[in-house]
Amino acid sequence: MLVAKTIDEFRTFRERLVGVKRKELNREPVVGFVPTMGNLHLGHLSLIRAMRTGCDLSVVSIYVNPTQFGPKEDFARYPRTPDDDLASCEQEGVDIVFMPADEVMYPVGFQTRVSVNELSKPFEGELRPGHFDGVALVCCKLFNIVRPHKTYFGQKDYQQFRVVERMVKDLNMPIEMIMCPIVREEDGLAMSSRNSYLTPNERKEASSIYRALSEIKRAFQAGERKVSILTSLGKQFLSTSIKLQYLAIVDAYSFEERNETCVEGDVVLIGCLLGTTHLIDNIILEGGA
Ligand code: AMP
Repeated sequence: MLVAKTIDEFRTFRERLVGVKRKELNREPVVGFVPTMGNLHLGHLSLIRAMRTGCDLSVVSIYVNPTQFGPKEDFARYPRTPDDDLASCEQEGVDIVFMPADEVMYPVGFQTRVSVNELSKPFEGELRPGHFDGVALVCCKLFNIVRPHKTYFGQKDYQQFRVVERMVKDLNMPIEMIMCPIVREEDGLAMSSRNSYLTPNERKEASSIYRALSEIKRAFQAGERKVSILTSLGKQFLSTSIKLQYLAIVDAYSFEERNETCVEGDVVLIGCLLGTTHLIDNIILEGGA
């Protein structure tokens, strides 16, 4: 496994490995890419495994991107475990890890912004102003550096997927985006690096997020389509110590909120606070009667 810390280094490695694979396969190799902020867990590894199955050359980036954190957010204390992450990548058969420093990504004089307007406004965008601009910017830069054919993102960050997908379309990037299912702990809590911020009690309460989502989906599958009924049902299952920031049913692509009734394929989104920890989760309403 090769580890690149600079863009030049990455490009040299990519060119070299593409050359080797091209000869081996007698065709242009498919380059896959999984962008991460490190502190890799089974959620990340599921994306890497999907990439390894679908691509000839596998690239992972590990970069805690400062531009997607607000001034009062957890950038400084975000868990950083580079040695473990590299060991996991090696074990998963990743070909190149790109691990840039801030000066590499945002050198002195950097001033370009990337904004996906409408999709970035509601829900996480409203709670975290500027967050999706930072995500779009770093993904745009990483895509230009890595030049993947396919890139793998988690359903866990559903709004992020739609924002990046829109940017890829709007900027004519020749990249296929693949959404991978949410990997959960045994009690249903979606795996996340931020789960490590939870106290033991909060961690217990956190499983009620998935319970709420599952109950909404179950009622949908039994034929309930009224948004008010589905959302109040969900709220009943949420632990009282959870401060709900939003619970909404939205169109899967436009993120338009359903007010009256919902349809197959819509997505239930939850954003909440457990103590001071912000958690998100979602479920797709499918398999309806
Ligand atoms: P992060 O390191 O939090 O920026 O996440 C990197 C990628 O991993 C994103 O595409 C996330 O959606 C994805 N991811 C994070 N947690 C999970 C999970 N529990 N299941 C599936 N994908 C995940």
